[in-house]
Amino acid sequence: MANHAGEKPRCSCCAEPMALLDDAPHDRRLICAECRRHAPIFTSAHVAFDYAFPWDHVIQQLKFGGRTELARPLGLALTNSLRRATGRGGERQHQHAVDLVLPMPLSNARLAERGYNQALLIAQEVAQNLGLSLDSSLLLRPIETLHQAGLPREQRMRNLSGVFMVDPAARNRLAGRSVALVDDVITTGSTANEACRELLRAGALEVQVWAIARTAAH
Ligand SMILES: [Zn+2]
Repeated sequence: MANHAGEKPRCSCCAEPMALLDDAPHDRRLICAECRRHAPIFTSAHVAFDYAFPWDHVIQQLKFGGRTELARPLGLALTNSLRRATGRGGERQHQHAVDLVLPMPLSNARLAERGYNQALLIAQEVAQNLGLSLDSSLLLRPIETLHQAGLPREQRMRNLSGVFMVDPAARNRLAGRSVALVDDVITTGSTANEACRELLRAGALEVQVWAIARTAAH
């Protein structure tokens, strides 16, 4: 069996849910049609849930409602989902071990408005649960972006150009490392892809994207 009970079959590149044939070989990575056409730069994406009730509500409470205590159960759900996927026959069994956990950064303007970075709170939980190092000052976001959802693919990519920056003084902490970039929700994957581009440019070996939930985006 390719997936543990309760885990949906998903594209191993972008975490989009996929139909899985009963006789599909369980040792092959699942890759969706969109990723076959435009493969993301990140090695893989893993999410715990679809962005749907009740998780959409819980994530919105964490993100916009000041309910920062929700990072703990959400982080635990993501941790458990990652552990299941790493187990026998899981989608992550072929993956590199992660050296470093990074939260998806917020711009200073967004951080000042919200008071906290929900991705950092989730990343702290997951890193602690898995015994991994967390670095929240390595990847920076000097520029805020417009919302990506609804924009055509080419425009999303233009909109994101130059949004992320690796702190030049921190490059030695990144060189040759396998990195997990943690976010609350993956929507189009474009933002994660752009962050990944900067991380690889700055010397990361590879980037995996871990998030609580995935919207049906394609
Ligand atoms: Zn995909």
